[in-house]
Amino acid sequence: MKHPQLEFPDLIKTGEKLKIFTYPAPVLKQIAGPVTAFDEELKTLCLNMLHTMYHAPGIGLAAPQIGKSLRLFVMDIDFEREEITNARGEETYEYSALNPMVFINPILTNPVGTKNYEEGCLSVPGIYEEVKRAESITVNYQDWFGNHHQLEANDLLSVCLQHENDHLDGIVFLERLSLLKKNLLTKKFLKQKKRNE
Ligand SMILES: [Zn+2]
Repeated sequence: MKHPQLEFPDLIKTGEKLKIFTYPAPVLKQIAGPVTAFDEELKTLCLNMLHTMYHAPGIGLAAPQIGKSLRLFVMDIDFEREEITNARGEETYEYSALNPMVFINPILTNPVGTKNYEEGCLSVPGIYEEVKRAESITVNYQDWFGNHHQLEANDLLSVCLQHENDHLDGIVFLERLSLLKKNLLTKKFLKQKKRNE
């Protein structure tokens, strides 16, 4: 899906790398508020979130993950990143097939079917687990001009929309698991996090 109405600069080179909050930061547990101002500041926030997402790297990033309790997330399920050595002998990354998407004030409806997909999260780095999601979903959302759109999503796009939308409701994917798995993986993550501090 393309966003023909949005102009993206060079998202890899341009932008600010924002701090990503990790579990259990309080902002990740809040219900985010709607975006009401469709101004330059919002556009800059979206572009910086995309820049941050590409460099993390991740395929989705929701505003609460960078400390803003707003109903907004960015996504790209198509891009490729390859590690290369440049002319100066430095290790760097080459990006291709970018397909940036921005979803503001999204509303998910019409879940159909089920799909198990192994998920990870930039706010729970190093933890991956299968989560049961709807196979297809409809999303109504706004772009950064405030224009309304509707999209029907399947497979990875559907799963990703559900994962990111959960962040707006204060839910990280660990909470979609059985209590046993949730407790096990939460403990594992917190232990890892302590070790890396
Ligand atoms: Zn996430």
